[in-house]
Amino acid sequence: MEFSTKTRAADLTKMSSELLDILVIGGGITGSGITLDAQTRGLQTGLLEMRDFASGTSSRSTKLVHGGLRYLKQFAIKEVAEVGRERAIVYENAPHVTTPLKMMLPFYQGGTFGSFTTGIGLDIYDRLARVKKSERKFMLPPAKSLQREPYLKEAGLKGTGVYVEYRTDDARLTLEVVKKAHEKGAYIANYVKVTELLYDDQHKITGVAYTDTVTGATGTIHARKVINAAGPWVDTIRKLDGSDQGKHLHLTKGVHLVIDNAKFPLTNAIFFDTPFNDGRMMFAIPREGKTYVGTTDTTWQADPLEPNITKEDVNYILNATNEMFDLPAALGFADVESAWSGVRPLIQEEGKGPSEISRKDEIFHAPSGLFSIAGGKLTGYRKMAEKIVDRVARELAAETAYTYQATQTVALRLSGGAVGGDAGFAAFVAEATEQGVSEYDLSEADAAKLVHRYGSNVTAVYQELKPATNSLLPVDAAMLAYGLKAELVVHPLDFLLRRSSQMLFNFAHMFAIKDDVIKTMAAYYDWDEATIKAMRAEVDQQIQLRTAFKTDRR
Ligand SMILES: Cc1cc2nc3c(=O)[nH]c(=O)nc-3n(C[C@H](O)[C@H](O)[C@H](O)COP(=O)(O)OP(=O)(O)OC[C@H]3O[C@@H](n4cnc5c(N)ncnc54)[C@H](O)[C@@H]3O)c2cc1C
Repeated sequence: MEFSTKTRAADLTKMSSELLDILVIGGGITGSGITLDAQTRGLQTGLLEMRDFASGTSSRSTKLVHGGLRYLKQFAIKEVAEVGRERAIVYENAPHVTTPLKMMLPFYQGGTFGSFTTGIGLDIYDRLARVKKSERKFMLPPAKSLQREPYLKEAGLKGTGVYVEYRTDDARLTLEVVKKAHEKGAYIANYVKVTELLYDDQHKITGVAYTDTVTGATGTIHARKVINAAGPWVDTIRKLDGSDQGKHLHLTKGVHLVIDNAKFPLTNAIFFDTPFNDGRMMFAIPREGKTYVGTTDTTWQADPLEPNITKEDVNYILNATNEMFDLPAALGFADVESAWSGVRPLIQEEGKGPSEISRKDEIFHAPSGLFSIAGGKLTGYRKMAEKIVDRVARELAAETAYTYQATQTVALRLSGGAVGGDAGFAAFVAEATEQGVSEYDLSEADAAKLVHRYGSNVTAVYQELKPATNSLLPVDAAMLAYGLKAELVVHPLDFLLRRSSQMLFNFAHMFAIKDDVIKTMAAYYDWDEATIKAMRAEVDQQIQLRTAFKTDRR
């Protein structure tokens, strides 16, 4: 389905001229989930995102749809049970962006947990999170653990627990939610920033003023209800409303590093204790020929737009990794191919350190009527959306002719998710891959990659395949063409970083094709020289962000 700058302009016109039921501020996973939930309950909903979808925290996570094992340490039983259920729902509705992954949890001599406690912990987790039988935990003694993952540190290893986590592509998960909401009739625009809130004479919120950062146009949108889902900027919007009293956000920064699999050759995902006695744990996760590892967790007080990656962050992760794995050679700065940094929009809790603050979500309802939602996780996005839309829809049912409807999203396939759920996914992958090979002359590996990335939308991507005319491989060119027509790619960075993840997991290739991506888009959108220069600068700045620590001489 078309989702392009054309539909964007049309949606912005409709938002500006109609009275919406709900306007959502923020196109991360939270705002996107709310938009889909509200629109499918029969409420006309609009969504504004000031940069690209998922450009905030929702493309900078550990990329796991977790059952929340970590919460068990904090005895957050209810959360574990809820996110476990949600994880199953996310998987069923979008198996193309969520992949079950066996995660090894090693335990060592002198560590907090031994075989017995780890086994019991994982059992409780399996039960609370209602993990399917085939994915329940098992325990391995040291020799078997090393057989399964030879690069685990051998000294002091007492064994491992193996359980299942789901790896996702956070930016694409968000996008598939956005695309589904668009398909269901929500009005959606990225690169439109909310600059002001509008009120009636009783100071009740009636809408927003915005700036379209693509055209420079400004305008207003009116809605019966406004929901602030601005992630790390939730308090900025609450300030605009004059209602930022009581609880506030506490932002904490998390950095991840990407290392080539040849240097960090893991075949299993590992969840390990850092060796620093700081009570923290890290993930090391193989993906697309790379291994990514993280995260740090430090308080962040500066602008959340582009949190930095310092030498200290990189050292912390590399030291932990070198200490916890017996690698062919110790990892150094030169081995880091890419990196990302994001901030968690957590809700402040007095006297608690960054890693102790609960990840619970919370709704704030201001006297003006503004709803704000903060905290939470990628994994729980659907439930968070359900909770807040329940409240807003009840208000609308009381105040207008709207008849209350419960959430419709439990069994709603996301865009690309029409693949027959868990049960049908393997057959779908086989059939669609075969189609790519036989009808479009792709290699099996390329076809399978596209099928896993685009799910049931893959045929539309196949149809964009043409012989190469520049540095873009036919597959790159097809993904870009599809991105421009059906995934609202506005800036080259949207494609290089969030639609294709190449800036994270295929850095050298991204570097080789970036100029031709900019050229292709310049021709498609008819950009002038100043725009081309600005787009190039934006890409260069993002490359710099991910590599600056290597030359930082402090
Ligand atoms: C390091 C790290 C690791 C994590 N790992 C995991 C994990 O593995 N699994 C998991 O489930 N969760 C994880 N999380 C948590 C998860 O990523 C976040 O809870 C989630 O992405 C927050 O989404 P959001 O939509 O609330 O915020 P965001 O994604 O930041 O979205 C808010 C959006 O609002 C937009 N916005 C702000 N102001 C305006 C305005 N004035 N006008 C228009 N738009 C505006 C922003 O541009 C932004 O895109 C992790 C978080 C971090 C930082």
